[in-house]
Amino acid sequence: MVRPTVPEADREIGIRHPVLGHGFVALVDYMGEDAAIVQAARVSYGRGTKSVRDDRGLIRYLLRHRHTTPFEMVELKFLVRLPIFVARQWIRHRSASVNEYSARYSIVPDEFEVPPPDEVRHQSQHNRQGRGGPLDPAVVERFRSDLERVARDAYTVYSGALEAGVARETARLVLPVAYYTQWYWKVDLWNLFHFLSLRLDPHAQEEIRLYAAEVAKLGRLVCPVAFEAFEDFVLSGLSLGRREQRAIRSLLAGATPEAACKAAGLPLAREDGKPMTSGEGVEFLQKLARLRGEGSPGDEA
Ligand SMILES: Cc1cc2nc3c(=O)[nH]c(=O)nc-3n(C[C@H](O)[C@H](O)[C@H](O)COP(=O)(O)OP(=O)(O)OC[C@H]3O[C@@H](n4cnc5c(N)ncnc54)[C@H](O)[C@@H]3O)c2cc1C
Repeated sequence: MVRPTVPEADREIGIRHPVLGHGFVALVDYMGEDAAIVQAARVSYGRGTKSVRDDRGLIRYLLRHRHTTPFEMVELKFLVRLPIFVARQWIRHRSASVNEYSARYSIVPDEFEVPPPDEVRHQSQHNRQGRGGPLDPAVVERFRSDLERVARDAYTVYSGALEAGVARETARLVLPVAYYTQWYWKVDLWNLFHFLSLRLDPHAQEEIRLYAAEVAKLGRLVCPVAFEAFEDFVLSGLSLGRREQRAIRSLLAGATPEAACKAAGLPLAREDGKPMTSGEGVEFLQKLARLRGEGSPGDEA
C-alpha cells in the first residue's frame, strides 16, 4: 500500500517561508489529507452516507455540525522560528506537541525583532490589548533605536557571561523577549483550525497573525476542501446570541438598529448617557456592519 500524499504539499516540504525580521514557517511533514477525514467519518456513518453525500459535502457537513474527531485524523508538523514574545502567545495552545530549541543546551543566536516603523503605533483607545493610530515619527524612531540598543547591550552581557563561564541556562536571563526561538510544532487539523480561528482574528496581535497566515497557507495545501469549509463556516461565520436574534427580529419588523438594540437589551450607552465603545450592543452593530459588507468586525487592534 502506498501512503496517501498531496503533491502540492509535498513540493512545499522544508521550504522556509519568511515571517517578520528573522522568522519563518516551514511544513516539515503531514499525515492524512481530505480523504482521511472522509475515511474516518464513514467508519461512524457507514457506507450509506456515500450515496447521499459526496466527499466535499460530507466534510462541509462535519464542520458545520462540529463533528470534530474526523478532522483529528490529519496531523501537520511545522518548523517555526519566532520571537519569544510571539512564542509565549503561541505556546498557550495546549493541544499541540512542541519541541523547542534549548537555550540551556545551545547558545542563543544574536537575532532579535525590531518592528518596522508602521508597526510602532499608539496604544489603542478601544482595545486595551491592541495598538491604534500612527505615532509621531520621532517617537517611533526613538523606540526602535532604544530597542536595538537594549538588545545589543543584552547580547554583549550574555556573550561576556558565557565567556566568563556562566552556565547557558543562567546567562540567557538577560535576553529580552524580542530574541528568537525555534520549535517543531505538531498539531491535528481540528486544533489547527482552533488556533487559526483565534490567531487570524483581528483581535490577535499582528505578529502572531502573520505567522498564523503562513501556517494557514501551508495547511490549505494539505486539506483544501476542509480549509474551504473552515473559511466558510468558522472564519467567515457569524454567531448570533439570543438577544441578537431578538434584535434581528425587530430589524426585520422595521425598527432602527438603535431601537432594535434597546428592545433586545443590547446596551449602546452608559448610565451617564455617553455612547459605549465596546460591549454586546457595539459588537452587535459590528456584526450588522459585516452583514452589510462594511469591512471587518474588528476594532483597530
Ligand atoms: C486575542 C487573545 C487575547 C488573549 N489574552 C490573554 C491574556 O490577556 N491573558 C492570558 O493568560 N491569556 C490570553 N489569551 C490566551 C487564551 O486565553 C488561551 O489560553 C489561548 O488562546 C489558547 O486557547 P485554548 O485554551 O482554547 O487552546 P488550547 O490550549 O489548544 O485548547 C483547545 C481546547 O481544548 C480544551 N482544553 C484544553 N485544555 C483544557 C483544560 N485544561 N481544561 C479544559 N479544557 C481544556 C478547551 O476546549 C480549549 O478551547 C489570549 C488569546 C487571544 C486569542
